[in-house]
Amino acid sequence: MLAPYAVQVTQSRGRRFAEAQHPYRNDFQRDRDRVIHARAFRRLEAKTQVFTRRYSDHFRNRLTHTLEVTQISRTIAGALALNVDLAEVLALVHDIGHPPFGHAGEKALDSAMRQHGLSFDHNLHALRIVEDFEQRYAAFRGLNLTFEVREGIIKHSHDYDANKHPDLVEYLLDQRPPLEAQLIDLTDEIAYNTADLDDGYESHLLSLDEIREGVPIFERFYREVAQIYPEAPQKLQFNETLKRVLNRLVDDLIKTTHKRIQDGGIQTLNDVRQYPSRLAAFSPAVDAERKQNKDFLYENLYFSPSLADEKDDAERVVTDLFDLWMSHPESLPHSYQDKAKEDSLPRVICDYIAGMTDHFIFEQHEKYCGG
Ligand code: MG
Repeated sequence: MLAPYAVQVTQSRGRRFAEAQHPYRNDFQRDRDRVIHARAFRRLEAKTQVFTRRYSDHFRNRLTHTLEVTQISRTIAGALALNVDLAEVLALVHDIGHPPFGHAGEKALDSAMRQHGLSFDHNLHALRIVEDFEQRYAAFRGLNLTFEVREGIIKHSHDYDANKHPDLVEYLLDQRPPLEAQLIDLTDEIAYNTADLDDGYESHLLSLDEIREGVPIFERFYREVAQIYPEAPQKLQFNETLKRVLNRLVDDLIKTTHKRIQDGGIQTLNDVRQYPSRLAAFSPAVDAERKQNKDFLYENLYFSPSLADEKDDAERVVTDLFDLWMSHPESLPHSYQDKAKEDSLPRVICDYIAGMTDHFIFEQHEKYCGG
């Protein structure tokens, strides 16, 4: 039984190109499977989240991060009686527009575009992937996803200004997205805040003492765990602590969101859409702990000198290739040369680079720029 303010698949605004119903799967389940079968989804496996493969094969990459976000989102959506199928597909697709090399790659690509008066935005790129670049079906371009999934791609983490984005007008920019989409950004943060502590600790870039000192929510649960399992190996105490941090964030997000739904008098999906702010939220106390955790990761991991060389490499590789293809568009693959006849050259180069895996972009850099 879905809550009355959940998205009902039978009420979907549908697909761009009408399709017959599937005998076994509803439209959101089909969208989930279309995302999983997309080439861009499979490439997430070879894109950096925070750590490159140099560190370890068992650290998160964009794909395993995506799977963690998906499982957390399913739990939260289920507990709030929201549409779990919709939350699942939105989580699976949420990072599909990310370029190689994590945030360093995104920044470098955006800077390169800004030289030409343009910009790069991974949500807008994700929409281009599912609408245009993925070609699997004979009847239409792209994945022909339902409106609610496309809307969630655009609106899950960012409010776009309708004046600056007339191209997005169909996505109801003056309204809040459904709760299934609102959850994704917060779930994303729960996933990476905990996972990056884990990988940071395993990589020895973060020590247990540093984490205990810098992340109060971690310290609180660590003390609890050390009392219950005083003899357990340190790594298992660490894991037990992290599990409790994750549960705390999830539990608080569910309860706070539920309370805001009740306090706001929300009865229908339209009430969610018309509400003046997003309803999915942490409580102020837990939000402060979440922020301490995030700030700690920025200061001690994402901007750590140990990762600086790789970030510099990422920036250099993206910038070199972008500039090379700007001055030598004849070196682009023929399909991209054809695209450049209809779209601006910087945009076509940006699309090409954004789709690459870490491995492929290094190979291109070696080939065209001598590594
Ligand atoms: Mg993410």
